[in-house]
Amino acid sequence: MAETRVTIIPGDGIGPDIVDATVRVLDALDCGLAYDYAIAGQTALDKGLDLVPQETLDMIGKNPVALKGPITTPVGKGFRSVNVTLRKYFDLFANVRPALSIPGVRSRYDNVDILTVRENIEGIYSGEGQMVSEDGERAELRSVITRKESRRLIRFAYEAARRLGRKKVTVVHKANIMKSTSGLFLDVARSVAKEYDDIEHEEMIVDNCAMQLVMNPHRFDVIVTTNLFGDILSDLCAGLVGGLGLAPGANVGEDKGIFEAVHGSAPDIAGKGVANPTALMLGAAMMLDYLDLNSEAERLRNALRTVVGEGDKVTPDLGGRSSTTEFTDEVIRKLAQ
Ligand code: NAD
Repeated sequence: MAETRVTIIPGDGIGPDIVDATVRVLDALDCGLAYDYAIAGQTALDKGLDLVPQETLDMIGKNPVALKGPITTPVGKGFRSVNVTLRKYFDLFANVRPALSIPGVRSRYDNVDILTVRENIEGIYSGEGQMVSEDGERAELRSVITRKESRRLIRFAYEAARRLGRKKVTVVHKANIMKSTSGLFLDVARSVAKEYDDIEHEEMIVDNCAMQLVMNPHRFDVIVTTNLFGDILSDLCAGLVGGLGLAPGANVGEDKGIFEAVHGSAPDIAGKGVANPTALMLGAAMMLDYLDLNSEAERLRNALRTVVGEGDKVTPDLGGRSSTTEFTDEVIRKLAQ
């Protein structure tokens, strides 16, 4: 089997623990992956390097995929988020976040299955043009949306819907108020939707969408939206299926993907050996799908669903008493069955 090299960024806080656990599970799948380790975030700063060292960028550039632990964004002026930097540097224009119920996990609803496709490099979330006046009385932040990026992203969402056999794409916007930016995004969505007459096209204003997601999540299938709305709504969706410990994310470009957990570095439980690695392992399953290792991806998802669903060997955030290592051992046992 040809070897595929994966860049591994352990990250900060609980990052190294959940990354080690995920690499153990990938090794147990024995699907021809080899790893190149690179650092970023606080770990890099502590070594006197840049937040995202050039060697790390070069390493990610060389390999088709990267698996990234959560990174602490230092508080203070002059630090741009590592995630935002990586998305822009590698042109990772789509952020894909599935929210799928796991039977047995306590959550508000069962059978939720929503795929959020979020624009990843434009809009107000990109942090461009920030300014605070000298007297501190006025602040500014620019929001730029382009037809080109919107088209690329919305096409990506419709293509994903078609590939995955999904029935409906809901375009979420605020074009009634943000007529220029959100209006342009909606306009592009309407024209792209015409190319996909096998998929239902729906439009929804973001505030209504937030309410509808809470009231009746089963009415949603694929959501496509701009950067900040997608950031917020995908966390809402994660909350619907049991929380951030179960939510993976993929940052995807034309020829590269960086896969991660949606949650952060959890400094409150770092070093205690109790972090839940499920979200990152589900991110690794998305990475396997991206590499066309679909049966391995499915085996991993099934093992995770079984262990998390059974609930005897889960970490404290899911109501259990197991450590990260005990949970991982159990996933590996299930993979071997
Ligand atoms: P967080 O997601 O790190 O933690 C929120 C809460 O969820 C905490 O109580 C934490 O213990 C819990 N939690 C998170 N992941 C968990 C897991 N796998 N298992 C068990 N419990 C888990 O959010 P925060 O505290 O707001 O942020 C901490 C740091 O992470 C900040 O520096 C932030 O910038 C960074 N961050 C990074 C990413 C990323 O790299 N993708 C994403 C979000 C936040």
